[in-house]
Amino acid sequence: MKLRTFKKGIHPGENKQYSNHIPIEKMPLPKQVFIPLQQHIGSPCEPLVSKGDSVKTGQTIGRSSAYVSSPVHSSITGVVKTVDKFPPPLGMRVDMIHIEQTAEDDEWDLLAVPDNWENTPVVELIKLINEAGIVGMGGAAFPTHVKLSPPKDKVIDSFILNGVECEPYLTSDHRIMVEQTDKILTGMNILMKILNVENGFIGIEDNKPDAIEMMSKRVKDLGYRFQVVPLEVKYPQGAEKMLIESVLKRKVPVGGLPMDVGVIVNNVATALAVAKAVTEGKPLVERVTTVTGDGITNPKNLITRIGTPFSDLIEFCGGLKDETTLVFMGGPMMGLAQYDLQIPVIKATGGIVCNTSKHIKLVEHFPCIRCGACVDACPMYLLPTRLAKLTEYKKYEEAEKYGIQNCIECGSCAFSCPANIPLVQWIRVGKMRVNQLKKKQQAS
Ligand code: SF4
Ligand code: SF4
Repeated sequence: MKLRTFKKGIHPGENKQYSNHIPIEKMPLPKQVFIPLQQHIGSPCEPLVSKGDSVKTGQTIGRSSAYVSSPVHSSITGVVKTVDKFPPPLGMRVDMIHIEQTAEDDEWDLLAVPDNWENTPVVELIKLINEAGIVGMGGAAFPTHVKLSPPKDKVIDSFILNGVECEPYLTSDHRIMVEQTDKILTGMNILMKILNVENGFIGIEDNKPDAIEMMSKRVKDLGYRFQVVPLEVKYPQGAEKMLIESVLKRKVPVGGLPMDVGVIVNNVATALAVAKAVTEGKPLVERVTTVTGDGITNPKNLITRIGTPFSDLIEFCGGLKDETTLVFMGGPMMGLAQYDLQIPVIKATGGIVCNTSKHIKLVEHFPCIRCGACVDACPMYLLPTRLAKLTEYKKYEEAEKYGIQNCIECGSCAFSCPANIPLVQWIRVGKMRVNQLKKKQQAS
């Protein structure tokens, strides 16, 4: 059977074999956590607690009055040691709330939940999802309550649940689809009720046959009308715009959003978090994170509390091997290399990939040979080589004309480049500079 897919893209080594068969394991409660006040796209939170305050698991400890933001919660029961700047996983310094555990057992501060979510007004459900601090857990960390509130003139007719997990190495979404299927489907139902859509699709790459089988079986057993759609294994199949093209053959216009073609996409981990918030009153204080790669002693899929230092997870997995050279938050395509293992797990940490130099080579780069491989790979139909050059020569306005802001930073161009030119890294810088320039122009 020919599997659905999108045009262009690449085929990096999957490397899922380290952890795709390993059942999810719960980590012991961390002795201390570091909760960043910004873990999402949008405005950072202001702290609601200060040094010496006692906090319970699930208690709101930071929020912003801005609409595009998401509150943060304590992930353990303990005492606030400080609110200060600590090394973050996303590369820019943000304030974090440092909490030390005081109770071995969790004392939860749960949200009030409706007796029956099916009869609950949509506005109440969206408020609950906002209060629970739920953001897109596939990596983007966009506040979910905002995504669920499209403008009135956008007619949404389809919902896609994203179970693709195309990033090499990562298996946390795969494992939750196999082990927490019913809760994910409940989350999908809640999301579709909020959006008032009838057409539900579940996109899963073909390299997860057990997830496809389990999802299809439970959809049938429970009498849902969702369609499970097996997809070709190709990167970046899980990017929203590519997924919409693959599943529905709709093209999101340049500079547009999925809602422009009547679609909302949510990740499977987000759906799980929604189900836990709406049916159990649990704010987003834990997630499944894969710790994997050839540089970790015992790869695992772990339920871990938000704010737990990477070093705790790595130690729980038997530690790094001597020859390990790089640790990423996320996978090797879109993840970020880390220099300090005290950084905490955040809401978007789907995985920690630890690699030896066998898998990751720090290589010299050479001048462009104009082979066009980066252009062939780019799923957004951009000219990566030109965008990188324009950034290098500080021609930001021209880079904007060439669509630099449409780059989804998938890294397919850099992966394909035989001259090893760090194309996506240049483009990230270019996008940042274009934004700065725009802000400056608006201010003046
Ligand atoms: S230019 Fe951007 S969207 Fe295109 S391949 Fe490179 S990183 Fe991906
Ligand atoms: S893939 Fe590399 S060498 Fe080839 S055109 Fe693009 S930047 Fe130049």
